[in-house]
Amino acid sequence: MEKVNLKEKIRIIPDFPQPGILFKDVTPLLKDAKAFAYAIDQMASKCSSLEFDLIVGPEARGFVIGAPLAYRLGVGFVPVRKKGKLPAATIQGEYKLEYGFDVLEIHQDAIQPGQKVLVVDDLLATGGTIGATVRLVEKAQGIVSAVVCLIELTYLPGRQNLKEYEVISVIQY
Ligand code: IMP
Repeated sequence: MEKVNLKEKIRIIPDFPQPGILFKDVTPLLKDAKAFAYAIDQMASKCSSLEFDLIVGPEARGFVIGAPLAYRLGVGFVPVRKKGKLPAATIQGEYKLEYGFDVLEIHQDAIQPGQKVLVVDDLLATGGTIGATVRLVEKAQGIVSAVVCLIELTYLPGRQNLKEYEVISVIQY
């Protein structure tokens, strides 16, 4: 596939959602068919030596990246959602926000004990979201093969906070 400069397709928005944050906006990449396909293919090729049965992704951008990656890799996709959104019985996990806590859920029967899982999101910052997703997978007795992100902010301690896991990213800032 023709090479695409993915960083050219990511828009940096200063002071969003708070002053001092340089927000990486992936929507220009997502709407560009070649860039989107190239990004998913790059993620897929970095996973080629791993063993996994499923992809698990947190809402919302974890769905946008995780579902096409699952399709590309020939495995199923399992959503992790904010509290109250999933219809069947769930397993819950709390995670820390800057102020207070939030709850993530996964369907109780989404992962069979011992199944190997790739945890996928668009962006790894502090690792809070992925860390909470990893804990849910483990509560469901899944085994995390690796954490896979399109973008990694290497100036934040995401990788450090996930040091027991293999962390794979395609674009680094
Ligand atoms: P973390 O939990 O601190 O690692 O933040 C990662 C989560 O926040 C991911 O689910 C991202 O979608 C979102 N996020 C944080 N910073 C950015 C950004 O600069 N661009 C896009 N999403 C972001």
